[in-house]
Amino acid sequence: MEPIFTPEQLAEIQAYHLPLYIKSAVSPLVYLGVLALILGVLVRPFYRWSESCADGLSQRLAFLRTAPVSRVLIQSLDRLWGEPGWGAAILFALLVELFIELIYVPATIYFGYVLEHRHGMSAYTPLRFLLDELKGIALEGFAVSALALGLYGLARRMNRWWLVLGLPTALLMLGASALDPYRSQVFFEQAPLEQGPLRERITALMARAEVPFQDVRVEKTSVASKRLQAYFAGQGPTRTIVLNDVILQELEPDEVLAAVAHEAGHVHEPKWPGRIAASLALVALLFVIDRLLRLSATRGWFGTTRFADIRTFPLLWLLSFFVFFLSAPISSAFSREREREADRYALQLTQDPAAFRRMLVKAARVNKMDPDPPRWVVLKGHSHPPIGERLAAVPPAPEKRAPAEGLPVLTEPSH
Ligand SMILES: [Zn+2]
Repeated sequence: MEPIFTPEQLAEIQAYHLPLYIKSAVSPLVYLGVLALILGVLVRPFYRWSESCADGLSQRLAFLRTAPVSRVLIQSLDRLWGEPGWGAAILFALLVELFIELIYVPATIYFGYVLEHRHGMSAYTPLRFLLDELKGIALEGFAVSALALGLYGLARRMNRWWLVLGLPTALLMLGASALDPYRSQVFFEQAPLEQGPLRERITALMARAEVPFQDVRVEKTSVASKRLQAYFAGQGPTRTIVLNDVILQELEPDEVLAAVAHEAGHVHEPKWPGRIAASLALVALLFVIDRLLRLSATRGWFGTTRFADIRTFPLLWLLSFFVFFLSAPISSAFSREREREADRYALQLTQDPAAFRRMLVKAARVNKMDPDPPRWVVLKGHSHPPIGERLAAVPPAPEKRAPAEGLPVLTEPSH
């Protein structure tokens, strides 16, 4: 069996990953620096600008207060906020988001476009890249405004706001995955996989796995990326098997089936412990935010004059950074274990280790995966075990011929 990569390919893969590893090491410090700059210096000028800008807008757009549809919207925002000032609050939250995005523009262009193109991983045109970035920023801007309005609006009006907000949000989170099939369509076109042998084999495989699904769809991600991708979106009746167009070009039907079988393995994993833990963590996080907001108000941090003052908003970014930074090693360790389990499940389901192995090797080649990444990178937050480790776990196919030379890259222990 041939090794996954030639020495030249391996050198190329290492050249591609080195900047990513440096980024992984440096980016937490950079992000903390940016937040320190905002919290230490920029909160006051940002807030002054938001207030005067909101004043100017409310004078110029005063007619919206009487126009038929906008009147209702504005009245309900007044009622939610309990006093004037929600306009300044939204502008402030957006300004913080936009400032962070702006600081990251060079890194976004380098890692999202330049590096990917240099190593042949991206099919983005500059225009399409720009449009997708702007779409992402707009979606985040919408989420940030909704969060600022909802969280601060509710906190001003209710003592136990963290419970009032936390419980329904936790419930929403449990149901939100049913909407997954629609989310990715914001970025890529999708069409049903055409009728034919592949579709029939996928349907038969899912019947054996006892996984009901709504449709098999092909996502045209090749306009942006040259990577292979397959995933299941949605739950139960909305479950959709999504294959990208690259996977259909690069893989043989047996190998596509191996990838689908792996995804089916994820359907069978117990979801409730993770969901319940996430819901509890969310309510706990909101409680911590409540304490932080009260502390800021009594100490007058960042010029705050009252409880749930929007000037504490960047503090929430800091808090969520710590939550994600500290929890990523734990949640990614669970994720890697689930991936190993899904691999075992797929092998059991298809009984075709040779196709599974070929699927992993092709995925590694096309996606330029590092077969043996530094251990700290994996532990810090890799959702999947290194491809070398996954290949080593595939049992050898029952072959009549004696296997040729082994996989020197893979048989070495990875740490
Ligand atoms: Zn998986």
